Amino acid sequence: MNTSAETLEVAILGGGLAGLGASMECGAPVFEAASRAGGVAASDQVDGFSFDRGIHVLNSKSPKVLSFLADLGLDMVPITRVAQIYSHKVYTAYPFQVNTAGLPLRLRINSVWGFFNRNKHPDPTNYEEWMYRNIGTTFADTFLIPYSEKFWGVSPKEMTFEWTGNKVPMPSTLQVVRGALWSRQTAIGSNAMFHYPKNGGGYGAVARALEKRAGDIRLNHRAVELDTTARQVTFENGARISYDTLVNTIPINELVRITTDAPDEVREAASKLRTNSIRVVNLGIRRANVTDKHWVHFPEKDISFFRISSPSNFSPDMAPPGMSSISAEVSYDRNSPPDSEELFETVRRDLVRVGLLRDDDEIVVRHSYDIPFAYCIYDRNRKAAMRTLKDWYGERDVITCGRFGLWTYFWSDEAINSGRTTGRKVLKRMNGDSSVRAAG
Ligand SMILES: Cc1cc2nc3c(=O)[nH]c(=O)nc-3n(C[C@H](O)[C@H](O)[C@H](O)COP(=O)(O)OP(=O)(O)OC[C@H]3O[C@@H](n4cnc5c(N)ncnc54)[C@H](O)[C@@H]3O)c2cc1C
Repeated sequence: MNTSAETLEVAILGGGLAGLGASMECGAPVFEAASRAGGVAASDQVDGFSFDRGIHVLNSKSPKVLSFLADLGLDMVPITRVAQIYSHKVYTAYPFQVNTAGLPLRLRINSVWGFFNRNKHPDPTNYEEWMYRNIGTTFADTFLIPYSEKFWGVSPKEMTFEWTGNKVPMPSTLQVVRGALWSRQTAIGSNAMFHYPKNGGGYGAVARALEKRAGDIRLNHRAVELDTTARQVTFENGARISYDTLVNTIPINELVRITTDAPDEVREAASKLRTNSIRVVNLGIRRANVTDKHWVHFPEKDISFFRISSPSNFSPDMAPPGMSSISAEVSYDRNSPPDSEELFETVRRDLVRVGLLRDDDEIVVRHSYDIPFAYCIYDRNRKAAMRTLKDWYGERDVITCGRFGLWTYFWSDEAINSGRTTGRKVLKRMNGDSSVRAAG
């Protein structure tokens, strides 16, 4: 079908939090491939259960972020984290660095000893060395390296560590010693207390609130062709637009794939960007309170999932009365997604093995969701590749933002902020401020 192009001053590709945030600021229409907005931060409603797309909580304590969400009409409730690690057949509180009491004695002694000697390791050049230098050899070898390999699907030797900032909890010596001797409850890290929407229907409430403030949202519009010379985008449904400025929030390597006039150096840069992929396996269970935990990490390789959460513990409306829910997250290679049926059974069996389900528990809902672009991998190529891509698109008035638009480990509030900052920048350009360039 060859329809004439709709002319737009600004168009936004992708209706996740970043795209919605950008539209909220500049009012431009959003073109979203899926039949609903929210991207990876949406929630799914299935037979009375609500499931987020992998665990989603608000980690930020920034008054600015909280008042922004309150202004959107969201009631974000503070919740004290109940999170654990399952290792050596024992549940201990998260994070492991400060909660080894309960684990085998030798492991506790070695963990503390390794922590004391961490400064003997040289300045790190990769994520694995960063772990040795910051938490010591035993913590790294027993927990974080196996967890990282399971989660990211690559060796931490291949990764850089500039993203670790507020993402990996850093303990004091006192906390490590106390945690090894007697305390099983030391709470550190940015989500020791978190916020979750009370409004109902899961974390997707945040995206739904943003949608109300955004411009026109065109669902079922998957961009399949971008010509940056003609400034035109074609969609799978046959629609076409022309634009002055394009805001991109879809994964940047997907954008390159559909760009007809991208030169070899741009394609080469995009091919260097790596991500992990996650299958979220959701189970609705006919039993109240199957667990009291919000989430549990599983570093050991013989368990199929790296993390589970229990949505029914985040808000009472997440499951029908008398029922509970569990979401298990399984990391996979994007080129070989696991078989769904087999995975359901593997996950159920592993949940029984770790004591979270009983063998005779009735599973009333089985649902799964694929996140092909889940967490971007920070490696030595990422920074230079992103610079090439941002510069090339920026010169063509395509501004890229959001988690995979910038290939960045953004949390939800940071993704919204990235979109809003871009939206404001675009608005200034629309209002004739020629000092605002598209790049960067
Ligand atoms: C498993 C998981 C757990 C997380 N947990 C937390 C948490 O606990 N707390 C927290 O704050 N953050 C969390 N995050 C991060 C948070 O979800 C993201 O930062 C945020 O949702 C990213 O929004 P975005 O708009 O940048 O990207 P996305 O949500 O990926 O949005 C991109 C949009 O583009 C659309 N799209 C793709 N291709 C096309 C195309 N060709 N044409 C048109 N549209 C297209 C997609 O459908 C999607 O809607 C988590 C993320 C993951 C993956």
